Amino acid sequence: MKQIYFPEPFRIKSVEPLTVLTREEREQKIARAGYNVFALASEDVYIDLLTDSGTGAMSSSQWAGVMTGDESYAGASSYYHVQEAAQRIFGMPYVQLVHQGRAAEKVLLPILLAGKKYAIANMHFDTTRAHVELAGARAIDCVVPEALDTTTYADFKGNMDVERLERYIRDLGAENIGVVIMTITNNSAGGQPVSVANIRATRDLAHRYGIPFMIDAARYAENSYFVKQREEEFRTSSIADIVRATFEGADCFTMSAKKDAIVNMGGLIGCRDKALFETVKQRTISFEGFVTYGGMSGRDIEALARGLDEGIDENYLRYRIGQMQYLAARLEEGGIPFQSPVGGHAVFVDAKKLLPHIPYYEFPAQALAIELYREAGIRACDIGSYMLGNDPDTGKQLEADFEFTRLAVPRRVYTQSHLDVIADALLNIKERADKIKGYKIVEEPPILRHFTAKLAPLG
Ligand SMILES: *Cc1c(COP(=O)(O)O)cnc(C)c1O
Repeated sequence: MKQIYFPEPFRIKSVEPLTVLTREEREQKIARAGYNVFALASEDVYIDLLTDSGTGAMSSSQWAGVMTGDESYAGASSYYHVQEAAQRIFGMPYVQLVHQGRAAEKVLLPILLAGKKYAIANMHFDTTRAHVELAGARAIDCVVPEALDTTTYADFKGNMDVERLERYIRDLGAENIGVVIMTITNNSAGGQPVSVANIRATRDLAHRYGIPFMIDAARYAENSYFVKQREEEFRTSSIADIVRATFEGADCFTMSAKKDAIVNMGGLIGCRDKALFETVKQRTISFEGFVTYGGMSGRDIEALARGLDEGIDENYLRYRIGQMQYLAARLEEGGIPFQSPVGGHAVFVDAKKLLPHIPYYEFPAQALAIELYREAGIRACDIGSYMLGNDPDTGKQLEADFEFTRLAVPRRVYTQSHLDVIADALLNIKERADKIKGYKIVEEPPILRHFTAKLAPLG
């Protein structure tokens, strides 16, 4: 019997035309972009896999909400709709709107880290790390060792290494640690899930030492779907019940709604403590806007309120994770190496294994991203040495642990045929892999160079 991976639980009502350039045109465009995918115009891209953040397709109900969104400065009805949905879904008594995930971090983290030296997470997302450091603390990652092994299967590669966490707390002193953070799914480890058992163990350990426990909840719904598939206790639970179990006893959360709430812009902060919430509200007013709009338009708030429920629909999640698993199965069949098992929002192709003749300082993952554009107009990005950049002290190119080309899949945007194009393009590239050359950087800014650097092909 043939397995059906992902019945789309929707039909298409509105379409957005895509340009299909010829190979010659694509060659010109990528050369003119200095072989930097960030410099490509989106209309020159056929399938855009740069990120799954804010790139999802809203439903007809969300678009209807855009029309009924209440633009009042204070007390808008859309604000109460988000409050109702968020309190019900997360079981948190206090919820604050902000304009995106990093805004939530900017408001909340300095409160938790005042007078503290460290934040410890399974893994900090880049912006979370930045806001920990801006608050004057250091960010420590404490993920399980399985996360770093791309070939061996593990159900929950995103988990916190709880024993190591306890050693850190003892060695660094509980009084110096402002917060323990659980990022679900674990984005930096490849969208890998975290088990509810691990969330509970981490929460209880933090609380035993009197440290607040925070969830970075960007992909909480995808995480809950993996829990249902892989954690015995939750096999027959509803997604809503798993979400409640996930947030049970957590002191607070930050969330980028641009992921699992399927909106183009938005964010949330949740907390249990009234005094903490009062401070959150004050800081939101300074940085984001009055508490009932938090830096957002009423129409976007209404879309967010509706997206929260759509994101935890089990049929939607089966399709969403099914798309990732379908793409992964096709790559596996074709012998394309990737971080396995596939996570919730992206396939991380192992360019070090696919292009073993290109050394890290000639950027194999960037070379593969460029080949994907040449081959089929697909835009992916480098998560490897090209992104890592130079040692700030010596100016020498650093070597990353991995050379990944990330294929992030937007929500409800591409069909199975698009996924087949991605897989076929990679298979074609594999055929001529030994002929693909590396790149050198010809122009780069001192920090975050991957966004604006210019490259040139070698050989
Ligand atoms: C996207 C993301 C953020 C930051 O959210 P923005 O909306 O991009 O500001 C924080 N944490 C994780 C895990 C994320 O994926």
